[in-house]
Amino acid sequence: MSRTVVTTLRLKVKAEGYAWLDAAAVEVNQVWNWANTTCHKAASPFVGPAKWLSGYDLDGLCVGASEHFEHIGSDTIQRVNAEFATRRKQFKKAKLRWRVSYGAKRSLGWVPFKAAQLKRKGMSLRFSGKTFRVFEQDLLEAVTWKSGCFAQDAVGDWWLCLPVQQIRAQIPAVRQSVGLDLGLQKAVATSDGDKLEAHHFYRNIELKIALAQRRGHKHQAKRLRRTAACRRHDALHKYSRKIVDRYQTILIGDVSSLQLSQARAAKPALNAGWGMLKTQLQYKGQQAGRSVRIVDKGNTTRACSSCKALTGPVDRHMLAVRIWVCSECGDTHDSDINAARNILSAGRCPPSIRGNESSPTAAPPGQTSIEARLRVSALTVAA
Ligand SMILES: [Zn+2]
Repeated sequence: MSRTVVTTLRLKVKAEGYAWLDAAAVEVNQVWNWANTTCHKAASPFVGPAKWLSGYDLDGLCVGASEHFEHIGSDTIQRVNAEFATRRKQFKKAKLRWRVSYGAKRSLGWVPFKAAQLKRKGMSLRFSGKTFRVFEQDLLEAVTWKSGCFAQDAVGDWWLCLPVQQIRAQIPAVRQSVGLDLGLQKAVATSDGDKLEAHHFYRNIELKIALAQRRGHKHQAKRLRRTAACRRHDALHKYSRKIVDRYQTILIGDVSSLQLSQARAAKPALNAGWGMLKTQLQYKGQQAGRSVRIVDKGNTTRACSSCKALTGPVDRHMLAVRIWVCSECGDTHDSDINAARNILSAGRCPPSIRGNESSPTAAPPGQTSIEARLRVSALTVAA
């Protein structure tokens, strides 16, 4: 079995295109700011009824505007209008922030386009009358792309972001289910004892960043930070791919609820990007036909995964205590792996409302015990 999935390619643009893109980005900012003013005026007019303009309304108001721009065309203007209307709806605001073109607070460059505007031409790409070359050009062979954009990063480099349709075969998973602890710890662990530690992403890079900052090398610091982010993305993508390929049912301990209650302790988790990992597992799992569920973390860090007694370290000291011994059964636990095991068992059979028995509906088909099936039939008979 296979299904079509949309993935976004991110290819670095070769430096000869930067000047053109910088100039085009200024024009895009002008369109955005025009849309911002126009929409704001329409939403609070001096006289008459207020109007909430849509992207389509904006397109109608700026017909022929492309004549006044040297770089961008009407397609790009329409994409800017559409994006503006979407963001405005999303944030429920009559006015959004301006896009700043110059100075220290300038917005990172962004030039959107429609799928048909970008054309392949030999070894290069053609967009709005300009020829571009990108690195890893061969990735564009034999793919159908959708509307994308050119985007600038903090270092000042330009990237071509292109959503492409790909057909991916659905491979059956090797194993049944896994529990994943995306806690506030600096590591993520599975119930099988497989770990991903956050400090691996950075290795010695944090020291270098600090050094560059102290010496006043701003650009170098930005570059290093980008390297760190790339490493993190790479590690998270590889890890989530491995998990999705291996397991059919993926149970993730809920991160968000804990983050709300312990905002301060959540900082390392945010740095490590566990939220990103959660998103990746969800969409990759969906693409591969896996079942991905979020499980309430509850007492998963405190309970012993062998005997279920609450003998583990209390949350506040959790970051310091890595390995502990259960005082009830004497088992030694790694705190991350122990939590992941508890998440796995919590997801398999959530406690029923009545008491300790497992709910018959929660067990996957084929694993339902005879006892549970009998109880179901007894209930149907009673009804
Ligand atoms: Zn125990």
